Amino acid sequence: MKASAARPATDRLARPLNSLRVSVIDRCDLRCSYCMPEEHYTWLPQGDVLSFAEIGTLVGEPAIEDLAMTTNATQLAQLAGPLRQAGLDRVTVSLDSLQSERFKRLVRRDALPQVLEGIRAAGVAGFASLKINTVVMRGFNDDELEALLEFGRQVGGEVRFIEYMDVGGATLWSMDKVFSKTQILARLEERWGPIAPCGPQGAAPAERFRLADGTCFGIIASVTEPFCRACDRSRLTADGLWYLCLYAQEGTDLRRLVRAGHPAEELAAFLRQRWAGRTERGAEERTKAPHRGALYQVEDLRQDPHREMHTRGG
Ligand code: SF4
Repeated sequence: MKASAARPATDRLARPLNSLRVSVIDRCDLRCSYCMPEEHYTWLPQGDVLSFAEIGTLVGEPAIEDLAMTTNATQLAQLAGPLRQAGLDRVTVSLDSLQSERFKRLVRRDALPQVLEGIRAAGVAGFASLKINTVVMRGFNDDELEALLEFGRQVGGEVRFIEYMDVGGATLWSMDKVFSKTQILARLEERWGPIAPCGPQGAAPAERFRLADGTCFGIIASVTEPFCRACDRSRLTADGLWYLCLYAQEGTDLRRLVRAGHPAEELAAFLRQRWAGRTERGAEERTKAPHRGALYQVEDLRQDPHREMHTRGG
């Protein structure tokens, strides 16, 4: 969600506090290999999960100017219409393959038909935008870029290709599985000819491009071209820990504050102050790692479920 404020707080790199990603739940009904490849997970204690009223207190509802949801789309066939009616502005869905066997292998569930139905429902529900996120993995789905773009065109969605990231949870990550922005562009150019930039990037993580026929798509090159310098995003986990970076080791416990009954102005002042000290730029730092591999091993993740990407929000 994007907040509107006359003068947003800025951090030590002059990045505004604009965008908050709220996880409403730490569970998922899929098991994608780039996020949840293990057999067992430690879930957040139910009593720690924030109620909707507590989330409302923390996000300061009146200041929201743009509300978007990111989803795996498994429930969207039933919920796209009601969500739009309830005021949701935009939807982003994940879709990494259009081939049912491959999809099944990736997510370890037989869910492609319901996901596609969900995305189609979102396409006709009247959202201001529909984005389709695809994590591109070398040797797995890098031969589907063209098909995914075609699918995006059919459903009225804009595809965003994402480089496979070494975030928490991605225990199977290795650099040789990353299919880079340069390689994505080369692959698409081979098929469709010259590709042009499509407008300024701003704070949005995706760099947008346009094919000769006018189709726009995005690339999120978090691994090869990190964009931390423009990052205005922070994350709130379902149990109320506030992370100022996807790679941050520590989060700030806002659940404690909200449950202690601090007034809204006090909470707002605390958040502004905390943001003012922000220096994080995790993806840029990762590029300096001498032997870059998975960020955490399974044992590290078991010690603290907040290190998991499915807990922190992708
Ligand atoms: S790594 Fe951290 S600072 Fe960089 S873009 Fe991601 S969340 Fe923002």
